[in-house]
Amino acid sequence: MPDTPITLPAHLPYTKEHIVVIGGGISGLMSAWILLDKGYKITILSDHWAWTKDFHKSRLTSQIAGALWEFPPGGCGPTEMTKPPLGWAQLKQYEEWALQSFEFYELFMKLQERHKAEFGLSMAKLNSFFYKSMPKDAKVTSEDPDEAKLAQIKAYAESNPPRLSGLQRHHEDIQGFMQGIGVGEHYQGLLKDAYTHDAPIINTDKAMVFLMELLRNKGAEMETVHLEKLEKQYLEDLGYKPDGVINATGLGAKDLVADKDVFPVRGAIKRMANSTFDKFHNLNEAYLVPSQVDPANNKDHVKTVFLVPRSDEILIVGSIIQPYNDQLDLTDDSPEVEIMWKRARDFLPRLDYAQPIPDYPLAEGLRPFTSKNVKVRAEERDGLKVVHNYGHGGSGWTLAVGCARTAVHLLETWLDGKNTKTPDHLNMDMYE
Ligand SMILES: Cc1cc2nc3c(=O)[nH]c(=O)nc-3n(C[C@H](O)[C@H](O)[C@H](O)COP(=O)(O)OP(=O)(O)OC[C@H]3O[C@@H](n4cnc5c(N)ncnc54)[C@H](O)[C@@H]3O)c2cc1C
Repeated sequence: MPDTPITLPAHLPYTKEHIVVIGGGISGLMSAWILLDKGYKITILSDHWAWTKDFHKSRLTSQIAGALWEFPPGGCGPTEMTKPPLGWAQLKQYEEWALQSFEFYELFMKLQERHKAEFGLSMAKLNSFFYKSMPKDAKVTSEDPDEAKLAQIKAYAESNPPRLSGLQRHHEDIQGFMQGIGVGEHYQGLLKDAYTHDAPIINTDKAMVFLMELLRNKGAEMETVHLEKLEKQYLEDLGYKPDGVINATGLGAKDLVADKDVFPVRGAIKRMANSTFDKFHNLNEAYLVPSQVDPANNKDHVKTVFLVPRSDEILIVGSIIQPYNDQLDLTDDSPEVEIMWKRARDFLPRLDYAQPIPDYPLAEGLRPFTSKNVKVRAEERDGLKVVHNYGHGGSGWTLAVGCARTAVHLLETWLDGKNTKTPDHLNMDMYE
């Protein structure tokens, strides 16, 4: 069972069907929250839960995350999204899901201080850099994905009402901007453009504990079970007879529903003390050099720099992007960790003076990717109504709220007695 104290619920009576949510990560918990608020009876089944007391014990991917909100496609860049056939999630859906999550986090920031602190949520400036100079009037229709992304961000920041806040371009005085931050000479020579906007940052350890407590108090039953397969009879044999299922098992979906599209992308982040010490001054803003086409050869993708002040105490430094690698055996001395750390110090030389967090200096995890993008889809499995919500890659926290809403919407439409649509029709309607 999760390691948080159990406070038993004074919840409202259930008025709707019984839904089993599989997965105790952010995708499962966010889906469960929305369903509970709509009056469904919820059981969450998971083989692992967020664990915060012992840093040597392995932690959920949802806890390992940065977790920085990024406009899609996220900093994992080219590995972040593919162009799947019609009827599957496309870039437009990612944008909508991310913006809905942004709005949720922004609203949450307006709650009382106590709730913000419990969720571990903050809103910081995210400064994102390009290796090439972008046109001042970047076009959403540009063939260059980086330019199109910049133009799209601008369009959302200028929409009425704005869906993104705090957008600034540093096109004119990029050198002055970098010097002000203290960017190293090497990167000053490489980087040619940048923009800034507000972005949520989530202290995942706090948020996961907060969400589990919240759901328990709203009446969710949470049981520790490893499911071998997703079939009606199998669930019934285990004592569960749900009217519908949300499958939010992340990488686990590869085995649970035999989805060959699912693959891991190994990542790791260093955890440094974000306090002013010696010549290191703490960071209040996030800095990102996302993966992007290398202008030198117009083919390869350059590696990322990812600096995220999770809180006043912790600075996250990343990241590593290794598709199809599922080995969790990195150490501080692994060559890829050393290269990542060197990149970060080349970008911001004062990191040389930063100190690692002694009890947990390196976090590594496997991002749950699929070769057809996030799978928020209805599927009938042997008479069982299943809506999948997995495969969020390096953007699980960025997409969490939007994807959970879509998953719940799909399930509700399907459960509605008047609806006669097949799961395939529901999926097509969703992504047309
Ligand atoms: C290094 C790193 C940095 C990242 N940075 C960011 C970031 O900055 N921003 C961002 O938005 N995202 C980031 N991510 C991505 C993010 O962590 C994931 O996309 C997100 O955590 C996926 O959440 P999930 O709930 O879908 O999966 P998970 O967190 O993996 O949860 C899956 C749940 O399902 C359970 N489960 C699986 N199989 C079974 C089974 N058969 N039976 C029962 N239970 C099962 C597991 O125990 C777990 O509880 C990062 C990831 C990594 C590794």
